Amino acid sequence: MKTISQQGKMFIFTAPSGAGKTTIVRHLLDTYDFLDFSISATTRDMRAHEVDGKDYYFLTPEEFRTKVDNDEFIEWEEVYEDQYYGTLKSEVDRVWESGKHIVFDIEVKGATNIKQLYGDRCHAIFIKPPSIEILIERLTNRKTESDSSLKKRIARVKREMTYQDSFDAILVNDLLKVAFKEAEFMVETFVYGKPFEEEE
Ligand code: 5GP
Repeated sequence: MKTISQQGKMFIFTAPSGAGKTTIVRHLLDTYDFLDFSISATTRDMRAHEVDGKDYYFLTPEEFRTKVDNDEFIEWEEVYEDQYYGTLKSEVDRVWESGKHIVFDIEVKGATNIKQLYGDRCHAIFIKPPSIEILIERLTNRKTESDSSLKKRIARVKREMTYQDSFDAILVNDLLKVAFKEAEFMVETFVYGKPFEEEE
């Protein structure tokens, strides 16, 4: 007989910065009670609306380093300068032991590493903006970045776009409503082998 943790699956949503992955992930978590979010650890500062232990486990750089040394992470990356993010092994255990499937919202390198580790138990989805020009326009219009930071982000986006072929599926986020439907189709098909029947 299979234990729950042997049956658990995982969905990784990854994307270049600004492609809208967090919105899609939130929609899926609101739609399906059989999904749960993998809460990452990070050393970045907590934002105003965030809750420790819900959005992230906020750690000091020392706490993060100790966990790295103790081999507690499945993967970790320095996503921005001096800002570390990682997936804890205990998080995967927590979600699978609760009988749910895991949803990750992580950047492309970490996503590639998790996909390599978990293979067929894992569906890795690359969310793509309609075009790189539109993504740059979105990032520029946000006006949240200085010129040099914007340049770094754009360089990063171009690099991240080259990873797209390493994933199981590509989801183009042009119209959000359409992207939601496509993401739902992917989740239902991967968990149950086919999409749910439309309700009358
Ligand atoms: P933010 O600071 O905006 O919450 O996240 C910055 C980036 O780090 C996003 O692309 C996010 O998906 C990614 N990220 C969040 N958690 C993890 C993680 O555990 N591992 C990796 N590799 N990236 C992460």
